[in-house]
Amino acid sequence: MQSLNLGRKLDLDTWKNFEKMLSHSAVHHLVTIAELLEEHGYARVSDVSRRLEITRGSASITLKRLKERGLVTEDKRRFLGLSESGQQIAHSVQMKKKIMMTLFKDFLGVDATQADQDTCKIEHLISAETADRTARLLRFIESAPPVVKDFIEALEQFEKLSQESHSLHLVDAQIEKKDEPHA
Ligand SMILES: [Zn+2]
Repeated sequence: MQSLNLGRKLDLDTWKNFEKMLSHSAVHHLVTIAELLEEHGYARVSDVSRRLEITRGSASITLKRLKERGLVTEDKRRFLGLSESGQQIAHSVQMKKKIMMTLFKDFLGVDATQADQDTCKIEHLISAETADRTARLLRFIESAPPVVKDFIEALEQFEKLSQESHSLHLVDAQIEKKDEPHA
């Protein structure tokens, strides 16, 4: 395993590839349709906008783009659905969300609200491969063989002893609106 090396540079082009990903908002629209279909058997634009707490107009614009990209369908009665690829993306994001929530909240002990927020940021950007590896690690931990129990005990002990001395003094990359020149 590689030791924690904070000086390692991100591949220069990596972040540029994020541009190819669906927007965060678009992903939330897809997941919301999937949830509504699961819960009620139908989804309309108004149901999506209500659940996302955005205006109907704003939801319409995003849904129109998703229809153009072949991810969302709409029938003559204006009921929304998901195409096969739309379904695949929604399902993957839901699974990734579950995996990251388990990692942050249950395994790392991050506060539920913070874990929820961080999961929201990651859920649509994390790769299938990394999410899958994480899921397998969690499944192994949940299977609770003795070696894992010893590991968890040792980890808790380590946390207790090193809480103060091992702080990395990290901050969140956010600034006040007034400090942002092009806001
Ligand atoms: Zn999110």
